[in-house]
Amino acid sequence: MPEDESISGLILRAQSGFFDVETDAGMVRCQMRGRLTQRRLESDVVAAGDRVQVSLLEPGVGVIESVEPRARVLSRRAPSGKREQILLANPDQVAFVFAAAEPEPNLRLLDRLLVAAEREALPAVIIVNKIDLTGRKAAAGVFGIYEELGYPVFYVSAKSGKGIPELRKQLRGRVSALAGKSGVGKSSLLNAIQPGAGLPTQELSQATGKGRHATVFPELIPLSEGGHVADTPGLKAFALWDIEPEEVDAYFRELRPLVQDCAFSDCSHLHEPDCAVVRAVEEGRVDPGRYESYVRIRLGEDEDAPAR
Ligand code: GDP
Ligand code: ZN
Repeated sequence: MPEDESISGLILRAQSGFFDVETDAGMVRCQMRGRLTQRRLESDVVAAGDRVQVSLLEPGVGVIESVEPRARVLSRRAPSGKREQILLANPDQVAFVFAAAEPEPNLRLLDRLLVAAEREALPAVIIVNKIDLTGRKAAAGVFGIYEELGYPVFYVSAKSGKGIPELRKQLRGRVSALAGKSGVGKSSLLNAIQPGAGLPTQELSQATGKGRHATVFPELIPLSEGGHVADTPGLKAFALWDIEPEEVDAYFRELRPLVQDCAFSDCSHLHEPDCAVVRAVEEGRVDPGRYESYVRIRLGEDEDAPAR
């Protein structure tokens, strides 16, 4: 191969200066061309999900020559002042994973995650796992309001395999980030979606005594039908560090069209008279739980705060 020939690839994993790049010529282990790392700190120059140009040095070994501009990123924003840390480049969608039971779903957390996704203009889908424990109908009774809001909801069981084919279809050809609290079944789901992904589940890691997810940096797992799933990027990527109180209503799909009917143009929808949002809650057109989430986020309270 001539020296100046480069091939394009996708970074699946970034770890201590080495990058595993998926290319048409197979997996290539790369380092960065020196001049690229000088410009910014290495962790931000490239991340899993970046599309890069690679020149091969020998089969399976190469150098990253350039990085394509990113469409979007999932980042971990430090509390104001500190720089953001890129966790995943170019996600096409994020899938928030909850369990129908064990653990009980925390919808206030889901609302927070959805607000973060709306802010990043990142398409969000909801995965409700463990429906073998409750039945699909009961799970839909809890999560159905999100379907009404237009979020795709997948009712699945990693254990029984129910709903997995439909979920696979949603993941096909896309880069998806799976995010959810530990214990909801993300590893089990990945193993069900992609048999042989080989992710250790809780039982397995307890049995071997090896911890899981020692690093926060996700890894892209190639799906045999095309597309990639990012192993847990961590919920910190969706923290609402620096959200402006006045912009919160814009990220609740059902509130967005109402606010123009409030008496005050800067209505906080907390205590003002003649508020279209409060009216909609009272008339049952807006779910009280969703409004509760709005109030908490607006007031800067976290999702574990006691119910009002
Ligand atoms: P993670 O922490 O989100 O990666 O969760 P794991 O995949 O390790 O699963 C946590 C626990 O839930 C384990 O005990 C799994 O066996 C169990 N689990 C995962 N998926 C299902 C499911 O669909 N149904 C039931 N009943 N249990 C499940
Ligand atoms: Zn209002």
